[in-house]
Amino acid sequence: MYRYAKTLVGREAYRKALSNFSTASNNTPQVCIIGSGPAGFYTAQQLLKSHSSVQVDIYERLPVPFGLVRYGVAPDHPEVKNCINTFTQTASKDRVSFLGNITIGQDVTFAQLRNAYHAVVLAYGSAQDRKLNIPGESLSNVCSARRFVGWYNGLPEDADVKINLDVESAVVIGQGNVAVDVARILLSPLNVLRKTDIPESVLDSLSKSRVKRVVLVGRRGPEHVALTIKELREMVKLEQCRPNLIPGDYEHLKALIPTLPRSRKRLIELLAKTGLDIPDPKLASVYATANREWQLRFLLSPVEILPTEDGKAVAGVRLAKNRLEGEGLDQRAVQTEEYEVLECGLLLRSIGYKGISIDPSLPFDHKTGTVANENGRVIGQKGLYASGWISTGPAGVILSTMTSGFNTGKHIVSDIESGELDTSETKGGKVQILQHLSNKGLQPVTFDDWNRLDDYEIKTGTRLGKPREKVTDVEKMLDVLKH
Ligand code: FAD
Ligand code: NAP
Repeated sequence: MYRYAKTLVGREAYRKALSNFSTASNNTPQVCIIGSGPAGFYTAQQLLKSHSSVQVDIYERLPVPFGLVRYGVAPDHPEVKNCINTFTQTASKDRVSFLGNITIGQDVTFAQLRNAYHAVVLAYGSAQDRKLNIPGESLSNVCSARRFVGWYNGLPEDADVKINLDVESAVVIGQGNVAVDVARILLSPLNVLRKTDIPESVLDSLSKSRVKRVVLVGRRGPEHVALTIKELREMVKLEQCRPNLIPGDYEHLKALIPTLPRSRKRLIELLAKTGLDIPDPKLASVYATANREWQLRFLLSPVEILPTEDGKAVAGVRLAKNRLEGEGLDQRAVQTEEYEVLECGLLLRSIGYKGISIDPSLPFDHKTGTVANENGRVIGQKGLYASGWISTGPAGVILSTMTSGFNTGKHIVSDIESGELDTSETKGGKVQILQHLSNKGLQPVTFDDWNRLDDYEIKTGTRLGKPREKVTDVEKMLDVLKH
């Protein structure tokens, strides 16, 4: 934790902390946002645009901003991270403060925030993932895609995830874009990954990887995959790698394609073309010499993860064969009594992220992992709002999170203007919270601090011939900031 030297605890610490931030005058609407991912930043952007005086404070549990843009988006997709430029512009406005390294529910209670602000926005994303709840899930080399992604993206809490890549086959359960991301990182040539901001320690592990086959397992059919066309195209064109698909899985798609909605048609056409092995002369030579491969398997649900002889690590997964019930794209998988075993030395579970509650007072739906809300207004709690994945569930890209953030921002301003949100009482805002933090000997990381850390990472990366070398340890981040 970024603590003051002992002599600075108390009044002096408080004065110093305060000097780092702009403060609001009386009667200014004070809004705080929990979480500095896309939802947090887009909500802030909309608040500033729609209201001339509102003060916005963004609290973030990590010393660094941007949530899954920094720690989720694949390192070989740097263009997706361009939204960081817009977030940086928002953060540099006088009416916005970033208070990093402050976990709400731990360093500051939710009740303290509610008391200090006219409105609180929950934008803290989905911090967990869904489990399979089958035997063997705790074996070694069984890992959630969420933690695997955190590891290759340098997320401090995942820096020490133990992944053994001294295996030939990996199975990924799930066929969404996260599953494709992890498969692509496992299968990409090292010279491609070296140009990204994957931390050096992870590149070292990947350089020793023996993984040559990744199987993505879906519980439904090829027409139901949750991945998108750009990601599929990348897999089809992956260097030194070939698809190894079972043509029989794709035959029925020919008749189905004309009936599909336009958005889905192109994806399924490409999938069918790849599965039915319709030769593309440009790719034929790549496939002929490829030393790695990916597979898609369908209509299979994992029922047990099988151990190695010593009972410690994963050796395979037993899957029930499924049949489909219902109509069209909403068909659901029903397990049969037939089974199949896939051998693997690494199993990644990629069946979705999951939100958690940060306070018992929140109307939390544990099934969906979301805070109950209507258009971003938390149900039954005046002055409380939600945006992004914690309000919608863990689905959707940055663009849909932007829409969610903008909508929530608009609703807050409309509530201020209509008087629905009472801002007549002067609130302490961050001045009140900084006082509390100072008493605890805590000093938030500011956006200027982040800019310095950003420079440090970019400089270190440049020396290594990459865009940045992330600092993957919170203490080390704080150490860099002391100098
Ligand atoms: P997050 O981005 O998760 O932000 C939440 C923030 O809240 C985090 O910074 C977190 O540290 C903070 N926080 C959590 N708890 C607390 C607390 N108690 N106190 C203070 N702060 C807290 N979309 C695309 O468009 N393109 C892509 O290529 C893409 N790749 C993705 C790859 C992965 C692996 C994943 C999982 C998602 C990807 N997405 C992509 C989707 C995109 O990341 C999400 O739409 C978006 O990040 C959701 O934003 P959010 O702000 O709701 O959550
Ligand atoms: P997702 O898109 O919801 O995919 C989850 C996958 O897991 C689906 O194939 C789903 O199959 C399967 N699944 C769920 N429960 C299962 C179970 N119990 N057993 C077996 N399979 C199960 O989630 P995600 O991949 O985590 O992605 C989250 C969001 O981030 C998505 O909106 C995604 O598009 C976005 N994202 C985007 C990018 C990008 O744009 N490049 C990259 C990464 C993530 P069913 O369909 O049968 O439920």
